[in-house]
Amino acid sequence: MSTQSVLAAAQEAKPNYKTRDEIPTQYKWNLDDMYKTKAEWEADVKKTEELAKDFTKHQGKLGNSVAELKQALEDYSVLSRYFEKAYIYANLGFDANSSNPDLQTMADRTEAMLAVVNEKTAWLTPEITEIPDAKLKELLASPELATFKYMVEDTVRTKQHTLSKDKEELLAQVAPINDAPGTIYNMLAKDIKFPKIKDESGKEVQLTRANFISYMESTDRNVRKAAFDAYYGAMGGFQDTLASTLASHVKTHNINAKTHNYKSAVEAALTPNNIPVSVYEQLVGTVNDNLDLLHRYMDLKKRMLKVDELHMYDIYTTLVENNHGYISYEQAQKMVLDGLQPMGKEYTDVLQTAFKDRWVDVYSTDDKRSGAYQWGAYDSHPYLLMNYQGTLDDVNTLAHELGHAMHSYYSGKNQHYINSNYPTFTAEVASTLNEALMFQNMYQNAKNTQEKMYLLNSYLENFRATLFRQTQFAEFEKLIHEKEAAGESLNATNLKKWYLDINKKYYGETMISDEGIAMEWARIPHFYRNFYVYQYATSFAASAALAKQVLDEGQPAVDRIRTKFLSQGNAKAPIEILKDAGVDMSTSKPVEQAMDLFKDTLDELEALIAQAEKEKPTPHKPHGIGVKINGKDQHFDTAPQNVNGTVIVPMRAIFELLGATIKWDDATQTVTATKGNTTVTLKVGATTATVNGTSVTLAQPAQITNGRALVPTRFVGEALGAKVEWDAANNTVVITH
Ligand SMILES: [Zn+2]
Repeated sequence: MSTQSVLAAAQEAKPNYKTRDEIPTQYKWNLDDMYKTKAEWEADVKKTEELAKDFTKHQGKLGNSVAELKQALEDYSVLSRYFEKAYIYANLGFDANSSNPDLQTMADRTEAMLAVVNEKTAWLTPEITEIPDAKLKELLASPELATFKYMVEDTVRTKQHTLSKDKEELLAQVAPINDAPGTIYNMLAKDIKFPKIKDESGKEVQLTRANFISYMESTDRNVRKAAFDAYYGAMGGFQDTLASTLASHVKTHNINAKTHNYKSAVEAALTPNNIPVSVYEQLVGTVNDNLDLLHRYMDLKKRMLKVDELHMYDIYTTLVENNHGYISYEQAQKMVLDGLQPMGKEYTDVLQTAFKDRWVDVYSTDDKRSGAYQWGAYDSHPYLLMNYQGTLDDVNTLAHELGHAMHSYYSGKNQHYINSNYPTFTAEVASTLNEALMFQNMYQNAKNTQEKMYLLNSYLENFRATLFRQTQFAEFEKLIHEKEAAGESLNATNLKKWYLDINKKYYGETMISDEGIAMEWARIPHFYRNFYVYQYATSFAASAALAKQVLDEGQPAVDRIRTKFLSQGNAKAPIEILKDAGVDMSTSKPVEQAMDLFKDTLDELEALIAQAEKEKPTPHKPHGIGVKINGKDQHFDTAPQNVNGTVIVPMRAIFELLGATIKWDDATQTVTATKGNTTVTLKVGATTATVNGTSVTLAQPAQITNGRALVPTRFVGEALGAKVEWDAANNTVVITH
């Protein structure tokens, strides 16, 4: 496949489809691969419900024998496969076309099916947990149960933290209250009305939660500042309520940790996912050790933005222009296949199949679900929902979702159903690995310094937003849980102070930590998850390390990643799976390596900027028009002007530069210039001139400006036998003679 400059993608018209029917078939996913007819789907829904009812026959018998336990888990797998396929099919259809009433009915029908399945299988987990330890150990020693061993161990791993049945039942009854702080936060966040601000054209616009970031990305600093002040000002008006909801949420975690005999809320959150707390602590520690790199990046940002002070509202705006235009979906496919070529032929062959067999639903319509995702059943190929708009971000999203798809594809192919799903901790490694490889490929093929600078800068931004920022969140999340556990009040004053302190530490002295940012915790819905965001940072570090191994080692690394990681689903602990693939997240090494990569990228961008500054030609005056003669920039005491598309320059200077001698008649305001056999006459204000006695119509008459006569450059140059060209990109007349 030809490697081509990424940002110079062919300009093609951006399609605009109103309805799904207008979209050509090749851009819509093929759900027929799951069910050819609705009757087939209905048969599976029925079958699922029958199997769910039948499944209760295993109740009370799990601990009896290896055969009993095995049969129950096999039956559970079969039931789940029927359920999953029917459920996902209906919901994929609905997500792509939510205004279709048939699809709505089908999606609703799956919710009823889900309720039956939940009800009939709810006994399974508690019953596994109740099998006495010794008995379970004896059962799991059987090779017959090898496939189910990790799943069963995973189920009972938190057993020592399980309370007596009556206590757990009591807690289960009050459990819905635990969700209340998050629910109230979401409602409040929806209800808060933001003020209007002025956009780039001075027009009054309504600031919303949805458009806040796009105004923060504005290249107009006044707009960014207005959005920042308005947003956090409005949030600040509700600071006590917002602090109470977050404090209550944190309290539920601490109560849960304490009642279940965990040392901390973070331990209670990580243990069920089989992630050691040391992974979390190492991440925060290692990032803290390298904050000087983030500070250096902020210095660079300040220099590139050419601002006296760098503020928190300057952080989202682009530093390097990028004019790649619309990238067609076909072009995106080529870029992805090109970029992921280091993953080997076997991998890219599957990607080709994904494109050819329509795994992807490409374009947006009004009734399609927004965003992008990868989803699929064990008994189907993966499906990708996109809302493709032809930006470079969209190309990266395609590569990202295909990373999930390949993870699903290989795990589904190589694992029993029970082990085919994968947890978040490894999921985002598979997807961001593709993004890292895409970046390297685009960078290698960038055709000029500008393109390289653009790519390096977006990579650094990716680092900042993922590795640094998510770790900053993780650090704050851990801190507020510890403060609450120690009896300190999580009131607005304290939350703001703690948040601002961490923010200052992360961004360093170059950054003016504006007061408003102290309220940022109130903008982040992820603080209502339970120690979740750190996984974005660990995944980013892990995939950066794996991408480097792929590029350095080649095929052995590719094979290792495919067989030990992408094909493993959740057959083992996530930390073990990644360790087998080549990255040991129980040590600080991967995060340290990612920091080295960040440093190298920073060095590279700084060097390119220095080089670009050296290469830059003599800067033109603002809005100035340049004149170049035989490759040399000319300077005039009266600046050239563009009058109705014609560049006019001082008469004496231009004639003399082109080797002519002139005679000026002040009374008639007429110039006569001679060079060799050529004589040119020009009168100020006249629309015609003569060349060797022949009249020539001028695009623009000569005129007097600041006491000097200015004449049309092209006419003069061509009349004297020179070649005259217009370099629009540099706003310069180029004369060769
Ligand atoms: Zn993802």
